Amino acid sequence: MEYDIIIIGGGPAGFTAGIYVARAMYKAIIIEKGVAGGQVAISDIVDNYPGFIEIKGSELSQKMLEHVMKFEVPIEYDEVIDLWKEDRYFYVKLLSEKILKSKAVIVATGASPRKLNVPGEMEFYGRGVSYCAVCDGAFFRNKVVAVVGGGDSAFTEGLYLSNIVSKLYLIHRRDQFRAQKLYVERLKERNNVEFILNTVVKEIKGDRKVKEVILQNVKTNEIFNLQVDGIFIYIGMVPQNQILKNFKEIKYDESGFVIADETTRTPVEGLFVAGDLRSKHLRQIATAVSDGAYAGTLAVEYIQHNF
Ligand code: NAP
Repeated sequence: MEYDIIIIGGGPAGFTAGIYVARAMYKAIIIEKGVAGGQVAISDIVDNYPGFIEIKGSELSQKMLEHVMKFEVPIEYDEVIDLWKEDRYFYVKLLSEKILKSKAVIVATGASPRKLNVPGEMEFYGRGVSYCAVCDGAFFRNKVVAVVGGGDSAFTEGLYLSNIVSKLYLIHRRDQFRAQKLYVERLKERNNVEFILNTVVKEIKGDRKVKEVILQNVKTNEIFNLQVDGIFIYIGMVPQNQILKNFKEIKYDESGFVIADETTRTPVEGLFVAGDLRSKHLRQIATAVSDGAYAGTLAVEYIQHNF
């Protein structure tokens, strides 16, 4: 199948790009390997996206999806396993073996949760270890959980979980937080929440399910354990950059995010990178949407000038 623009990733950046391309009357397709909406779909409450004073992440992503559908941009649920350029055209190979062809590509694959890489993390994944409070929180009603991290995700998802669980420990490796002050203050106010600071997780233990975490205070080196039924890990995101491997010209920052300015252009003509995958200071729905608007518009302009 041939398209004008293939958009890889169906989160806020990819959806916005799709809307812009369709409104310019060009033929686009969005490829999504997981849940439409990306990280937003599995976030609890969003309260900093203009126009929606407070909305559930799943609801906002559903609204975005409906917006894309209104402009009749097809969404293919499949995984991209290869992407390359030959002459002036891009080729996208899917897990289903299908090969799609296009004049331009927008990569908006975002980022996935970083792992702690401690013993027990993988063994107990789905049995007490989780990276998604909205998906798994309900299994921990009136139970004791730990949330690891000091960024916005740890705090927003901690706020969500604290409404469900009997006790929540917020474990963070420093005593300063990256999270917005508003979220920190809100979580501090909850009377079933306790902060354990300057502390790292050394191991996750249990039998059939998680029973305890082994912790270490990084100031005193003291090792101690904490009885918990679950542990939610929110220690940042790892860029989903693997599908760019064929393009040696593309540069990455020290964390693997793609270096491109706000135009979302890469050194590869016709290839754009939008959303959380792009190296940037602020990863928000608003900034992902901005990238999507740029990528959609500039990909269309690229085709107009080159084909
Ligand atoms: P983040 O802001 O990068 O924070 C990651 C946290 O995990 C930091 O506190 C970091 O500690 C800690 N950490 C990193 N590696 C660790 C390790 N190996 N062991 C223990 N702790 C570790 O990530 P995020 O909270 O997932 O947020 C990702 C992006 O989405 C951010 O730009 C954030 O602002 C945005 N976001 C926004 C909202 C919102 O506005 N409502 C909600 C969610 C996410 P240090 O501080 O010590 O490095």
